[in-house]
Amino acid sequence: MQLNYIANASVPSSSGRTLAVIDPSDGQPFDEIQRSNADDIDAAVHAARQCYQAVWQRMAPVDRGRLLQKLSAKVLEHADELTALEQRDCGKPTKQARADAVALARYFEFYAGACDKLHGETIPYLDGYSVLTWREPHGVTGHIIPWNYPMQIFGRSVGGALAAGNVCVVKPAEDACLSLIRVAQLAAEVGFPPGAINIVTGYGHEVGDALARHPGIDHISFTGSPKVGTIIQQVAAERHCPVTLELGGKSPQIIFADADLDAAVPVVLNAIVQNAGQTCSAGSRVLIDSLIYEPLLERLGHAFEKLRVGPAAMDLDVGPLIRQSQQQRVWDFLSDAQVAGIPMMAQGVVVDEAPEGGFYQAPTLLRDVPVGHRLAQEEVFGPVLSAMAFQDEDHAVELANATQFGLVAGIWTRDGARQFRMAKRVHSGQVFINNYGAGGGVELPFGGVKSSGYGREKGFEALYGFTTLKTVAIKHG
Ligand code: NAD
Repeated sequence: MQLNYIANASVPSSSGRTLAVIDPSDGQPFDEIQRSNADDIDAAVHAARQCYQAVWQRMAPVDRGRLLQKLSAKVLEHADELTALEQRDCGKPTKQARADAVALARYFEFYAGACDKLHGETIPYLDGYSVLTWREPHGVTGHIIPWNYPMQIFGRSVGGALAAGNVCVVKPAEDACLSLIRVAQLAAEVGFPPGAINIVTGYGHEVGDALARHPGIDHISFTGSPKVGTIIQQVAAERHCPVTLELGGKSPQIIFADADLDAAVPVVLNAIVQNAGQTCSAGSRVLIDSLIYEPLLERLGHAFEKLRVGPAAMDLDVGPLIRQSQQQRVWDFLSDAQVAGIPMMAQGVVVDEAPEGGFYQAPTLLRDVPVGHRLAQEEVFGPVLSAMAFQDEDHAVELANATQFGLVAGIWTRDGARQFRMAKRVHSGQVFINNYGAGGGVELPFGGVKSSGYGREKGFEALYGFTTLKTVAIKHG
């Protein structure tokens, strides 16, 4: 049974209740986590505050960096163990789970190096004055993490917050806690002081809500659905607590007739099937120049048909979805497509070895999806790619921007001027030209516009969000 991790100690929830941990590959329970409550959050916030005041706030940035560097090395040392935990918990094929463990180490490495490079400025002002700015940590930060990339999102969110001088109370998703509990234990082993990283598990509407409401939380970093993002924003507004929101997407891959299709096809495919399509920045719409619509769809269709889906441990192209309700969600989208007469172009194959209770979904390519249909508008969060044709550049921009989201866009063209025009006109937080980095790039600031959220994580930019700026004006004559 898994316990909470508060002040470097494994502790049960005061509720005395637990939740089952289900293996998505066979639908069977194999472990338990704590079903925590507001008292557990209170204990974690108290431990974090004590750590902040007594130790963390006083630690030299270079020493914080050294601790993060040690944690990075420790994660790599334990990469096999973390891979196995994440794989069983989330149904990730081995190569994906391992990539996530390696990315976690890389986040800690990146932010280790950033700790002692974050500084304020001096500002020329009136005669007889000196003015300077200080970048100060918020203090105790809350981190609400989704289930799709627990380790990666923990790395970017907690790594950035610690580097900027904050301490952390973390609420992992109820479907994916195991790796994060272990990482907090590893942090204690390399010398993180008690209270710097605290993990409290349980349901979002119980323990997540308690975290968002706690008056001792000075900043909230939320990654999850737009619906819960709205709730977090409302709750935080009650006490004017700053929030970073990393929400969903309906990201377009825009392919012009002059693109290098040999390069584009595997990347477009990977951007929708990676992690079984359960990626906020999944390239879930492919907008294709009408001049190459039919031949490109045919190529994509062949690629889809070759995809094999099966249990995480088989390490195929695609693993199971996280849980039954997610599988049902994808089925609902596909049955809506059928009702609307949207043609299915191609599907991958679920292998015979896949256990019956697992949450499998064959990757599916849909064509001629009308721009107003929910398959062109809403996040499926499964391996479903919606294709549509555009007539010219203006039309491509119109389709690309025609959703409530704006997280990532991919633009495929050899025309240099068009690359810049399109990058400017597409409304999103990241634009990739002739490549696509679904979730990738530790160094690259990441975040959305519109309903994809606000604030930036990853890269150095994240450190500005995890700090507040103090202006000090000195009159010395
Ligand atoms: P979710 O919003 O249901 O849950 C996210 C987290 O919020 C979980 O830990 C959950 O327990 C918690 N939560 C739920 N209700 C809560 C409440 N009332 N108060 C406080 N916390 C609460 O999202 P999900 O289904 O876990 O993840 C999928 C969503 O996350 C997708 O929309 C996806 O696009 C988005 N996502 C975004 C990014 C990004 O960086 N932009 C990354 C990954 C996932």
